[in-house]
Amino acid sequence: MRKFLWTAGKDGRGVYWVSWDKVTRQKRLGGLGISKMSEVNAALLVKWAWRFKCEQNGLWRKVVLSIHGGRNKWEFLPIKKTIPGCWKSIAGFLEKLRINDQTLISLMTCRLGDGNCISFWKDVWFGERSLMHRWPILFAADNNKNSTVADRIKQSEGLVVLNNDWNLNATTVEAISEVQDVRWMLTQVKFSGNKDVWMWGPNGDQTFSVAAVKDSMRKAVNAQVTQRMKWVSWVPLKVNILLWRIEMDRVATRLALVKRIQIPDTLCPMCNVDAESTSHLFVTCGFSYGVWSIIWAWCKLHPVNFNSIDELLEWLGSLQMSTWGKRIIRGIVMVTCWAVWKERNKKIFKNGSPKVVEVVAMVKSLSFLWFCHRSSRYKVEWNEWVKYPLYIL
Ligand SMILES: [Zn+2]
Repeated sequence: MRKFLWTAGKDGRGVYWVSWDKVTRQKRLGGLGISKMSEVNAALLVKWAWRFKCEQNGLWRKVVLSIHGGRNKWEFLPIKKTIPGCWKSIAGFLEKLRINDQTLISLMTCRLGDGNCISFWKDVWFGERSLMHRWPILFAADNNKNSTVADRIKQSEGLVVLNNDWNLNATTVEAISEVQDVRWMLTQVKFSGNKDVWMWGPNGDQTFSVAAVKDSMRKAVNAQVTQRMKWVSWVPLKVNILLWRIEMDRVATRLALVKRIQIPDTLCPMCNVDAESTSHLFVTCGFSYGVWSIIWAWCKLHPVNFNSIDELLEWLGSLQMSTWGKRIIRGIVMVTCWAVWKERNKKIFKNGSPKVVEVVAMVKSLSFLWFCHRSSRYKVEWNEWVKYPLYIL
C-alpha cells in the first residue's frame, strides 16, 4: 500500500502524495478506510474501561479494585499512581485521553437499570457530574466510597427510597441542603429493572463497541470533507483510488511534480500546449477531450463542456438515471481516467504515440471485462456493450 501511494525517488526520499490522515479516513468521509494503529490501540484500551464498568463480578476487576480502590484522584476508574503496573498504564492513559476535546467520563454514560454496575458516588449517572462532587459532605461521611447505586438506593412499593444501611446524619446547614437534594433526587430517578447499560458517544446514544470508539476518534479529522467521487465496486480498487487521488489533486502530473522536485518542463506531454495540471490532463486537454467526446457518444449522454475535474464530478452527481445506470457511468468515467493515465505514462516512459481511438478501445474492453467479472447483477454481451453499455438496464 505504501509503495502504491508513495513513490520513492532515486535518492530514496519518496514523494508523499496523500497524507496518512487522509488515507485513514473512512471511505464515506473521503479516505481509504485503513485503521490507524494508534487509534486501534486507544480504542482497545477504552474497551478495558468499559469492561471494568460492566463486569462487576470479574475477578480481574476485584483484583484491580483491591489494589487501586479507595479514595482516588480520578473517580472514573480507580488508580493509585504510586502503584506501577499494567492497570496504572491503562487507567493513566485513559485519564489523559481526549476525543474531540472530550474526556472519557463525558463519552461513557450509563443508563440506570438495576443499579448494580454503576458507582453511586463516582460515575456520572444523575445530573451532569458525579455525586461525590455534588454532595461532598455526604461522600466524606460514607464509609464505602465504592458503593453501587443499588447499595445506596432501592425500589420499594413503586417508590425509590434510601437503603436501610445508609444513614444520613446532617448537623450543618451545608449537610442539610445536601440531604434535601438527595430527597429530590429520589423523586427523579427510576430503576428500569434491566441491567445497567454503558452507552457511548457525546449524546450517550450509541451502543458501546470498539468500532464506535474509533468512529468518534475520526470525527475531528473528518470535519470538513467535500468528496464528490463515489466508490464503485465493479471497478478495481486501484482504479477507484486513481480517481480519489485525481479529485484531491494528488497525482504526479508535471505541474504537481515541479512543486516537489526538479523537472525540465511542465508542459502536457499529450498536447504540448498547456501546463499539465490534473484538470488539464484528465479534462480540458485536447487529447482527453477527444476521448471523452467518443465516450459520451457511446453512453448516449450529452454533457456540457467541463473546465475542471470538479465540474465533471459535480455533473456526475447530478445525473438523473437509475442507480445502476449511475454506477455504470461512474465506473466508465473512472476507467476512462485510468486509460488516459496509462496512455500518458506510455508516452512519457516508453515514448509511445498516444492515440484517442486506442484509449477508447481500452476503456470499452477493460470496462466490459471488469463489469463481467465483478458484477453479478447483470449478464453482458460484448457485441451489445461496445454499442451501448447501458443496454442492459
Ligand atoms: Zn494536454
